[in-house]
Amino acid sequence: MLQGLTGQCALITGATRGIGRAIAERLAQAGASLGIVGTDLQRCTAVAAEISKAYQVEAIPFACDVAQTAQAEQTLEAMLEAYGKIDILVNNAGITRDSLLIRLDEQDWDAVINTNLKGVYNFCKPAARAMMKAKYGRIINISSVVALCGNAGQCNYAAAKAGIIGFSKSLARELAARNICVNVIAPGFINTDMTEALPEQIKEKLKDSIPAKRIGKPEEIAETVAFLCAQNSAYITGQIISVDGGMNMA
Ligand code: NDP
Repeated sequence: MLQGLTGQCALITGATRGIGRAIAERLAQAGASLGIVGTDLQRCTAVAAEISKAYQVEAIPFACDVAQTAQAEQTLEAMLEAYGKIDILVNNAGITRDSLLIRLDEQDWDAVINTNLKGVYNFCKPAARAMMKAKYGRIINISSVVALCGNAGQCNYAAAKAGIIGFSKSLARELAARNICVNVIAPGFINTDMTEALPEQIKEKLKDSIPAKRIGKPEEIAETVAFLCAQNSAYITGQIISVDGGMNMA
């Protein structure tokens, strides 16, 4: 088992399921202590207990709506109180509210922007403060291939995910001299509840459009996160790493 992150503390948003849970498990496998963020305390508690037992690491559940600035600040504070530091922040929580623009409700625009983009601001700001004091940190923000290519029916989602890229590049420039790396992962089509909800016909069409001709696994995103958290990755910042079976080759 890789123990490269023993002694490090990682907060992962949206860690109750899918990609976030795979990231939490991978970082726990590497020895990191965890903060597990999701909207529901019971789900967070169950996942934290399972991971803690499986990998013999500490894992603390935090119920928090990432779209709410005060809740995010309180969560970060609680993480710092519990562990005394935050080494790794993974902003993974995300939702979709798909619709063609002409039918896209303002509510669905706001929900996606607030959760997927403002949520990243909400956690990066207090985390950056703590990391600057410690002169160490790794921030990894989960975007999407859709940010790079666009997708009909996802104007809100693509805008939020593209926003993450501009935000992360700017923050990477602000923090690079403090030994804090900020990078983005742009997953392609990954097998989770989010994609499970798509109609079978659309999934088949999508699969056909992927050069690798298969849907990705959450573990493949988690592996990239672990790589970016490794000591040897300290010179990588402000980058967008596509993990998408070749969907985007710009
Ligand atoms: P899932 O729908 O499977 O899981 C979403 C996670 O986000 C859950 O843990 C959920 O927690 C949490 N979450 C949702 N809203 C909030 C909120 N307001 N506050 C806190 N937590 C929240 O998603 P995936 O695993 O598929 O996606 C993870 C990330 O990867 C997302 O940002 C997504 O946009 C991105 N992505 C996914 C792709 C895919 O193909 N699956 C492709 C490209 C990007 P809970 O239910 O407990 O509240």
